[in-house]
Amino acid sequence: MNCDYIIKGRYILPVIDNKWIENGAVAVSGTDILAVGEACALEKKYKVKKVIDAGNSIVMPGLINTHTHAAMAYFRGLADDLPLIEWLENNIWPAERRHVNAKFIKRSGELAVLEMLKSGITCFNDMYFFEEVLGGVAERAGQRAILGEVILDFPAPSAKNPQEAIQKTLDQIEEFKKSELIDVAFAPHSIYACSRENLEKINELALANNTLVHIHISETEKELSDALEKYEKTPIEYLNDLNLLSERTVAIHSVWLKKGDFDILKEKNVKISHNPISNMKLASGISPIIEMTREHGITVGLGTDGAASNNTLDLFSEMKMCSMLHKITGLNPEILNAYEIVKMATIDAARVLGKENHLGSLEAGKKADIITINLDKPHLTPIYNPFSHLVYCVEAQDVENVMVNGKMVMCKREVANMDEEMIIKEGELFRIKN
Ligand SMILES: [Zn+2]
Repeated sequence: MNCDYIIKGRYILPVIDNKWIENGAVAVSGTDILAVGEACALEKKYKVKKVIDAGNSIVMPGLINTHTHAAMAYFRGLADDLPLIEWLENNIWPAERRHVNAKFIKRSGELAVLEMLKSGITCFNDMYFFEEVLGGVAERAGQRAILGEVILDFPAPSAKNPQEAIQKTLDQIEEFKKSELIDVAFAPHSIYACSRENLEKINELALANNTLVHIHISETEKELSDALEKYEKTPIEYLNDLNLLSERTVAIHSVWLKKGDFDILKEKNVKISHNPISNMKLASGISPIIEMTREHGITVGLGTDGAASNNTLDLFSEMKMCSMLHKITGLNPEILNAYEIVKMATIDAARVLGKENHLGSLEAGKKADIITINLDKPHLTPIYNPFSHLVYCVEAQDVENVMVNGKMVMCKREVANMDEEMIIKEGELFRIKN
């Protein structure tokens, strides 16, 4: 039998259980994974066009970023060490009004896509402006993305009003409907930036078009107290009353929850995007993901949020911080193990985005989104357990090869479809000029 690639490595991590295959391989045909197993068995079975021998490495599914604002990359480090509302209203929104246009999104989006690919992220769920431009950037780079044109009640750089942003989303659905890499979601910003009427309209359209709804929920204590004062409901109860919560809802943050909120999230099968670094940096609070997952069986995936509140788009540091945050909060080192954390950046993240049948693990029939991590490094030596290494030792720059949809988009840290030098130069030029 023929196949296009065999990717070999010291440890294959399918991420279907807390186990790995030593001296294993993944066979790829076209866009799909054909088989996962021991290297010698697969090499005997298949007539292969190209063998990628990653040597002393971990081979695993590509990482999935469940929430970001990719094109905020140019605002990395622009305003740090501020409370969320001051950061957003006095710094980020004015900068966006001044700078954000289609050209900005292309350039800043390229920087973000480059950063994410180089750190092993093969799929990201976005919320920002001119998403069709970012979709083009991701598609040319060979990276998967879910676009979410942000919908706000007030004028934004890409839409004069919420109706325009909704129409842009519908246009993007049409534009990318044949794309193998790009999906589109509805992305109302939050309950405080999107009226009841608009949320109801979005819900109808998301249902009719069978898309995700991606929304910031209960990020800060103020958001919760404002909702309680204005509606006598928590943000979760409010959205539930609008029928906006379902298995297609990606609830970003969900930090400030009341007791009944957990039952609603579970009952409606809402998925959570947990962004621990952003929550810590903006001092928003600690999302109760232990209670969500352990007591209520709610699915939680990791996200980086934008580069203005993190300040990198790196799921390895997110995994480590997530682990540390919940261990210290619970005063319990056993609260989450390394395997559970890796799942939150792979298969559980795929579940959050409704893509668990195609992405998130190395299994025959799934899409060939595969990364390799080079272990020939002092900080990765010796190795006893590869899952532990992924959470506690591996850094983004240890990612060596990246395949998306059966195509090599990074080989030995050389990105195939992007001009890395130029993208970095343009980013620095933007800072100098502004
Ligand atoms: Zn966000």
